[in-house]
Amino acid sequence: MISTESLPKLHQHSSPFLSESQRQWLEKAQAFADAIPLSDRIKSDVENVFRRDLFESACKEGFGALPFPTTYGGSGGDYLSFCLVNEEFGRKCVPVMSSLGVHVLCQEPVYKFGTEAQKERYLRPSSSGKFLAAFGLTEPGAGSDTAALATTARLNGSHYLLNGTKTFITSGGSADYYIVMARLQDPSAAVSEKTITAFIVERGFPGFKIGQKFDMLGMRGYSTCEIVFNDCQVPLENLLGEHGWGRKVALGSLAKGRVTIAAQATGWAQGAIDAAAAHLHSLPEHNADYHASVAQIGELAILTESARVLMHQAAYAIDRKDPDAVTLASMAKIQATDIAMRAATEAISIMGLAGMRREHLVERIFRDAKAGQIYEGTNQIQRMLIARKLTKES
Ligand SMILES: Cc1cc2nc3c(=O)[nH]c(=O)nc-3n(C[C@H](O)[C@H](O)[C@H](O)COP(=O)(O)OP(=O)(O)OC[C@H]3O[C@@H](n4cnc5c(N)ncnc54)[C@H](O)[C@@H]3O)c2cc1C
Repeated sequence: MISTESLPKLHQHSSPFLSESQRQWLEKAQAFADAIPLSDRIKSDVENVFRRDLFESACKEGFGALPFPTTYGGSGGDYLSFCLVNEEFGRKCVPVMSSLGVHVLCQEPVYKFGTEAQKERYLRPSSSGKFLAAFGLTEPGAGSDTAALATTARLNGSHYLLNGTKTFITSGGSADYYIVMARLQDPSAAVSEKTITAFIVERGFPGFKIGQKFDMLGMRGYSTCEIVFNDCQVPLENLLGEHGWGRKVALGSLAKGRVTIAAQATGWAQGAIDAAAAHLHSLPEHNADYHASVAQIGELAILTESARVLMHQAAYAIDRKDPDAVTLASMAKIQATDIAMRAATEAISIMGLAGMRREHLVERIFRDAKAGQIYEGTNQIQRMLIARKLTKES
């Protein structure tokens, strides 16, 4: 077994600008991740099983609502701290990482657009881990093109009736409530996009059903499912924001979500480097490939550090409510996921057969990084968004 214990933990010292509180969150995340046996990390991936118990433990540690004020049970941290936690979880392949990221993403619109009653009903139990949240935007015919959403909502007395299917929903099979975007059937709305409206849908509402569970290449163990609405009865008070605010609700959360993914992916890249470096450490220096592989790791370390700096910058922009945060979030997401994919690919090449074995986690990182390039807006689409913004500005 290759050990990474003897290696310097370079990245932990590479951010001289971190505050004391940010460092404490990082240390807490390290302790949490290290306490999960390697066999458990592998099992949830191989068996594609969601660890609700670990999610609840993570919430007890304060990770479940880290970047929200204490008013509704949040931990009062900043977004950069949440990113530091996510980087550490990505690096060590903590099984609940993605569900936790989405859970925090879902609290954002409730915090920002929710009524007082919604905040009381959903935020506090989300902080404690009693409730798990999921985000329902993607549909079988509407991935990148959110304007093609076909799920409908119709006012019917004291309820909205939702009909349609959402697909690839992280935590879909395990969540207690879902932030769902549906097209309100409102003949008075002039522009169809404006009819996209957000709702909070509880798992127990009549007409709600969990659909097929996905057996995916990567990002396994997160209960990724379809959710189906069949005349699903959503009480009027579960409208989130106002009619036609769906895009505003969704896009506001996704910008933060992209920085979270950048953090997770920086962790994947670091995890791949750790494993490859530990492998080289265990080889005799006269091995023919040794020096070339050392140079390759040096190159990956430079790229990973650049992704980390961009991710920190995007998180910092979010904390400062900087209008450029959205563009920086896209840049950080692209950079970190592409570098994670490259680091995992090259780490496996450096390690040879050892890199293909589950216990070194690199093959998992390789599979997860591929998913990272796709979800919450593919990297191709993010590039277009960045270019469109710059073109408009010029
Ligand atoms: C692991 C995982 C978890 C997910 N979790 C969630 C979740 O919790 N909630 C949720 O709502 N969704 C979730 N998704 C869905 C995810 O957000 C979508 O996969 C993503 O938006 C891309 O949509 P798509 O897969 O349908 O690809 P498509 O939109 O079909 O795109 C396919 C390809 O075409 C390219 N393309 C598409 N349109 C254009 C264009 N106009 N110009 C140029 N290129 C284009 C894309 O870049 C991509 O390469 C998840 C996906 C994954 C893989």
